[in-house]
Amino acid sequence: MTDADHSGGDEFHDLDDLPADPTDREYVERTIRLAEEAVEAGNTPFGALLVVDGEVVGEARNETRTEDDVAAHPELTLARWAARELDADELADCTMYASTEPCPMCATAIHYAGIDRVVFGVDNETLGELSDAGVAIPLEEVIQRGDGETTVEGPIAVDAAMAVHDDFFGES
Ligand SMILES: [Zn+2]
Repeated sequence: MTDADHSGGDEFHDLDDLPADPTDREYVERTIRLAEEAVEAGNTPFGALLVVDGEVVGEARNETRTEDDVAAHPELTLARWAARELDADELADCTMYASTEPCPMCATAIHYAGIDRVVFGVDNETLGELSDAGVAIPLEEVIQRGDGETTVEGPIAVDAAMAVHDDFFGES
């Protein structure tokens, strides 16, 4: 539960704050912490992680500002990694957790990668009340338009996930 001292790296560390056999909610809380870490590193508040067969295989924080890359969303980073590194059986048992509903860019990559399931903390419509920078097409709609089979669950942690957005986008 600490504000760890790692530097914007992008995977496989600092999972000590996850309990054994985490619930969906606990995984999403971990992604909210990754979103906080993204802000500490100078980026916007978004985080995501991938679980395959009960094991965290990757995590990522937004890096759009520090990398000067509009595509450096954590969900896209992980979808690209999954498509590259996981076989069909692993993808069929792969869940992406995200602090916020993935945007249409990331949704399309999730569909192309064939990730089985996505669970997110807060929906983009709610975030849109604070920030209108996004494209307001729901993840589920993108998946359906692509005739995809990815299961979408969320929002499951609106207040907790919005708190980090309130801190970031709400000050003005
Ligand atoms: Zn995105």
